[in-house]
Amino acid sequence: MYAVAARIQGAEVVRVSLDPARGFALDAAAIDAAVQPGVKLVFICSPNNPTGNRFEREALLALARTLEGRALLIIDEAYAEFAQPGAGEKSLASELPAHPNLVLLRTLSKAYGLAGARCGVVLGAPELIALLRKIIPPYALAQQTLETVLAATEPPELAAAAARIALLRDERARLAAALARCPAVLRVWPSEANFLLVEFDHPGCVFDALKAAGLLVRDLRAAAPLARALRISVGTPEHNARLLATVRGCTALSAASGANGP
Ligand SMILES: *Cc1c(COP(=O)(O)O)cnc(C)c1O
Repeated sequence: MYAVAARIQGAEVVRVSLDPARGFALDAAAIDAAVQPGVKLVFICSPNNPTGNRFEREALLALARTLEGRALLIIDEAYAEFAQPGAGEKSLASELPAHPNLVLLRTLSKAYGLAGARCGVVLGAPELIALLRKIIPPYALAQQTLETVLAATEPPELAAAAARIALLRDERARLAAALARCPAVLRVWPSEANFLLVEFDHPGCVFDALKAAGLLVRDLRAAAPLARALRISVGTPEHNARLLATVRGCTALSAASGANGP
C-alpha cells in the first residue's frame, strides 16, 4: 500500500529485496546504496509481512543514523505485539528521542482485532507530528471509532487482549512445529508475527485443499523468491487443528500427482 500511495503522489518507488538465503535479514548496505539524493522516505516493516521475521534493533538504529539528514526511516510495527517474548523491547518507541528521523507506525488492526475501526498511530519527532497535524483531514476519526478504541483500551480489555496474544503465540509455536513434521512441507520460516510463512512441495494443491476446507490463506506464489510459499494466519485452536488435518491430507495428494504427472 505504501507503493500504491507513493504512485498516487507521483513519487518514484525504489524496492530493495530481502534475500531468503540470508534469512530475510536487513541488508543495510543495499538500502543505503538505494537511498540516492531525492529519496525521502524509507519504509521497513518489522516484524515483516509476509516473511514474519523481526529485524535486529541495532541494525535498524544504525540505519536510522546512516540516513539522518537524508531520509526519514519509517518502521511499520503493525505486528509488534506478536514479537517473541523475552527477546527485548518489541517497539523502537524508546529510541525516538535519540533518532530524530525515526518514525514508527502502530495499528489497532492486528493485535486488537479492530481493523474495521481504521485507527492507528504515528510516533515521531514533535516537529514531524506538528507538520502532520497541519495536513491531516479535519475530523479524521469518526466518533464511533473513538468510542470503540477507548472501550477497547480500558484495563480489562487490554488484559483480555494480552491473554489472546499469548494464546496466539503458543498456537504459533505449536502450529509451526506440527507443520514442520508434515511431509508436504518443505520449510516453516521463524515468525514473530500472527502468521507463518510456509513453503510446500505443491503449494497449489495445499491452497486448494485448504480453500475446500473453508480456510483461506495468502498465496504468495507470484512473488519470485516465495514461489512455493503460502502465508498462513494463526487461527483459533480449532482452525489450526483443521488446517493441520488438511495439510496432512495433502501428502497423499502430492504423492499421487507426483506419481501420475510429470
Ligand atoms: C495489516 C498491516 C497494517 C495495518 O494496516 P491498517 O491500515 O492499520 O489496517 C500495516 N502494515 C502492514 C504491513 C500490515 O500488514
